[in-house]
Amino acid sequence: MSTRRHFTACPLDCPDSCSLAVDISDNKITRIAASSLNPTTQGFICSKVSRFANRVYAKERILYPMKRVGEKGEGKFKRITWEEAVQTICGELRKIKEGWGGEAILPYSYGGSNGLLAQDTVDLAFFAKLGASRLARTLCAAPTTEAALGMYGKMPGTAFEDYEHAKLIVIWGANPKASNIHLVPYLKKAKSKGAYIVVVDPKLNFSRKEIDLHLPVYPGTDLVVALSMIDFWYQRKILNSKFIKRYTKGIEVLLEAAQQFPLAKAARIARIDPRMIEKLAKRYALTKPAVIRIGWGLERNRNGGQAAAAILALPAVMGKFGLVGSGYTLSNSSAYRVDPHALVAAPSWNTRIINMTRLGRVLLEESDPPIRGLFIYNCNPVATVPNQKAIIEGLQRQNLFTVVSEQVMTDTAKFADIVLPAVTFLEQHEIKNGYGTYATQYLSPAIIPVGEAKPNEEMFALLGRTMGWQEPAFRATTGDYLARAVKSMAAFEPPLDLNRLRNEKIAVPDFKGGNPIPFKNVMPWTPDGKINLTPESLGDWPYHFSPQKQTYPLALISPATEKTINSTLAEFNLPALYVLVHPSDAVHRGLEAGGEALVYNDLGVVAATVRISDKIRQGVVAMPKGAWRKSSQNGYTSTALVPDHVSSVGGGACFNDARVEVERA
Ligand code: SF4
Repeated sequence: MSTRRHFTACPLDCPDSCSLAVDISDNKITRIAASSLNPTTQGFICSKVSRFANRVYAKERILYPMKRVGEKGEGKFKRITWEEAVQTICGELRKIKEGWGGEAILPYSYGGSNGLLAQDTVDLAFFAKLGASRLARTLCAAPTTEAALGMYGKMPGTAFEDYEHAKLIVIWGANPKASNIHLVPYLKKAKSKGAYIVVVDPKLNFSRKEIDLHLPVYPGTDLVVALSMIDFWYQRKILNSKFIKRYTKGIEVLLEAAQQFPLAKAARIARIDPRMIEKLAKRYALTKPAVIRIGWGLERNRNGGQAAAAILALPAVMGKFGLVGSGYTLSNSSAYRVDPHALVAAPSWNTRIINMTRLGRVLLEESDPPIRGLFIYNCNPVATVPNQKAIIEGLQRQNLFTVVSEQVMTDTAKFADIVLPAVTFLEQHEIKNGYGTYATQYLSPAIIPVGEAKPNEEMFALLGRTMGWQEPAFRATTGDYLARAVKSMAAFEPPLDLNRLRNEKIAVPDFKGGNPIPFKNVMPWTPDGKINLTPESLGDWPYHFSPQKQTYPLALISPATEKTINSTLAEFNLPALYVLVHPSDAVHRGLEAGGEALVYNDLGVVAATVRISDKIRQGVVAMPKGAWRKSSQNGYTSTALVPDHVSSVGGGACFNDARVEVERA
């Protein structure tokens, strides 16, 4: 038996971007572990990806193109050739375009892979040429991106390695233990050197020994907590006026908003002890270096963009920049300065934009033109998008032609008319930029693709050629796209070279001497180089707080867990759906640990097993993000309870605006 070791990287939707060492025997993956190439990921990876071979060789793996032979959703398919599949798809899409116009076709994709080739390359050229509707990707990071772009121009944030130098670390709406595990060793190092660690989250994901203060804010109220901290400092005249004057603009509107939320009022809204906010505000004011890890939990509500902006304003009004281990970290995806136009030459495309969060509504309600063709790739909306029941009903429409390109038979793929087999990241060439760690990495196939799976750029090029289109985008090879991806990045000095990246596998952007240290070697990437504390992206009422109606007594959150990456791997890693309840909420409802419960609101009912813990705050329940339908006894998961309204900033999904009741089943 021949055994070899292959070096690649993980492109999944996770901030860490680990470098990987994959052992292969007779073209079969036998082990996936860390390599030391990415220095920040420190030689270990998550248990999710170490078991990724279970997906590669799963019995549910889609090996060949297939067409539906059963009812929509039944999951009965028959093998066909790629030739028949692409002819059928092109024929149907042409018919839809002729009958209803290109906008009756909706491409639908999200974070199944965060590589540069997997999305927005040939797919973009294909759907632009069709004149299809465009998609606003809003499931995650839309509100925070709007806030960070408007305020700091998406300046690169504090590197994880530098957290060990911080004296105060605030982890706000993030769970590094589930989806940013390589931050955890730096938190431990900082703690061992005496750092004070604060968590702001309705669910505590740390042991009480690991942190010093926990603010269990009620979902959707992060905005008022951050504003009250600013008001606290303002009233005591301890804002850093020198820094504000020199480096910011727009403070007046922020202060006016902050004064609406004195500490006691904010604490009442956030349902926490006012002394907690006071303690955090005092600590933050007195400590340096201080750093805030801003997660995406705080944006999943109607006030998400304003909340992100208010938290991003904290280091600005107190001047907490310029030292190693100070500032904030949100997404570092902009650090590579990718020019999207350099990736693919797509025709200009100015059709209507459809918010992906409202998929169910868009499929069920008559839009003009109605959606007749749906092409889903890198995404499993039945498991991950709000208003699950509407999505399922929409996908059952007989006059909807649905294509799904996937690795395994997901809840969504079961509704397809044509299913296409997609490669996993272990079977493809790709380039991945870390959005937490600072590294560009080159991926190459560890094994030849299983079955007849194809990478996205190849699949869309084939579809384009089948359409008879002559544009270079559809004749370019994967190698051409790799070269373009490398050239599209302006962050490297000297410019990145594909051959070198192929050999060395990893490159780190240059920030003039090591990691980015905001206000030392990187400044805001806004047009005037200043922090805009009242960016236009916050709309006509910046920092306006709009409370979610308490239609049911409990707030439902659906955070990431250590079991899945979005819905990827939930097929075997999350076999039984659960609802996490605070002990007093459980007693009040007669719920017992391990017992069955129904979680419900006006949108639906979800069956789940009860777990009881005081790590979740009273009045809030949690269900895991990304669960598949088979995990629940009635075939519905948390997204069935999530309304599809969107945040006023960025149009983001409002998962944490779900209000529910729980009762014994
Ligand atoms: S999911 Fe995250 S932690 Fe796991 S291997 Fe990928 S990058 Fe690393």
